[in-house]
Amino acid sequence: MSECPICAAEINVAPDAMAGELLVCDDCGAELELTGTEPVELAEAPSAEEDWGQ
Ligand SMILES: [Zn+2]
Repeated sequence: MSECPICAAEINVAPDAMAGELLVCDDCGAELELTGTEPVELAEAPSAEEDWGQ
């Protein structure tokens, strides 16, 4: 169990989740990237609209 960095809601991270996986916060809808697993770390995923190079 981890915490949404945006709204602090509890996020259920699968025990076999791997770094780099994308999750969506059920509470605020933010896209989150799993940046580490030991310990579990979540960061806001880069915005698909803004940062996917053009
Ligand atoms: Zn959230």
